[in-house]
Amino acid sequence: MFQLPSPIEIRSINDITFYLKREDLIDSEFSGNKARKFYYFLQNDFPHIQKLVSYGSAQSNAMYSLSVLAKIRGWKFEYFVDHVADYLKNNPHGNYKAALDNGMKIIEKVGLIPRDYSEEVLFIEEGGRQIEAGYGIKLLAQEIKNWQKEQGIVELNIFLPSGTGTTALFLQKNLLKGQPQGIATTVYTCACVGDSIYLKKQFLDLEKDETMHPTILSLDKKHHFGKLYKENYKIWLKLQEQTGVIFDLLYDPLGWRTLLAHPKVFDKPTLYIHQGGVLGNESMLPRYERKYEDIEGSGDL
Ligand SMILES: *Cc1c(COP(=O)(O)O)cnc(C)c1O
Repeated sequence: MFQLPSPIEIRSINDITFYLKREDLIDSEFSGNKARKFYYFLQNDFPHIQKLVSYGSAQSNAMYSLSVLAKIRGWKFEYFVDHVADYLKNNPHGNYKAALDNGMKIIEKVGLIPRDYSEEVLFIEEGGRQIEAGYGIKLLAQEIKNWQKEQGIVELNIFLPSGTGTTALFLQKNLLKGQPQGIATTVYTCACVGDSIYLKKQFLDLEKDETMHPTILSLDKKHHFGKLYKENYKIWLKLQEQTGVIFDLLYDPLGWRTLLAHPKVFDKPTLYIHQGGVLGNESMLPRYERKYEDIEGSGDL
């Protein structure tokens, strides 16, 4: 059912060639890094669980993936949000609509989320930022190790943009463990939510040993998550034009802008991880198109 290991393809942008791990192709519904993060809950037995509870934004990729997980496992799914915009309520689309179609019950509540510790309830932190995420990300790391060995790549650089940093952290940690002498795999990332200091704190919460942490790269300019930047839209269009691949509009544009601003990374063979999330483009793309209707095709890029 799942396409695992996820394929690795060769692509190029601005004449720079890189490898692309297509985590977006794992499955039409359960894919990307959320599939890895929630894999533990798909594969193990939870005989008492009847309901999944989580919280976050009304358009999040994690929310949608949890609705798929709940559907597959036959669990109810309750999701807490501060607020659902009227526009979204009246015109459901993207992750929100897909999650509702999967049976999600959305609850608007400002402030503390009621934590139900009863046996039947499985509580998932926002964005899947929890230890169990390590289970699926370890499998991702193993796929990369096997591939790196097959390809005979001695030193590999990996790049992926971070939100909570959970994926990047567990990936680097697992790629450091059990590698043969002389083989190096370095994980680079950037902070899309908050700044590099926030991301470093997130890493420290999950792992005290800083030698296990990914390397954080950044741009000089401050970046606000979810804001519509012209540079983000342009790089997204350019990626689509030059690679033929549709990337996500929330994380990948900043990821690519940051990576391309640090060309030294490409001195070694470089693997970019496509972490899925393309369904979320249904809400982001119309907003970009409306704001920057003057930008189209290659002439402007
Ligand atoms: C959730 C998500 C991320 C961020 O993952 P973290 O593990 O929270 O750092 C990046 N890209 C996409 C497409 C995502 O859905």
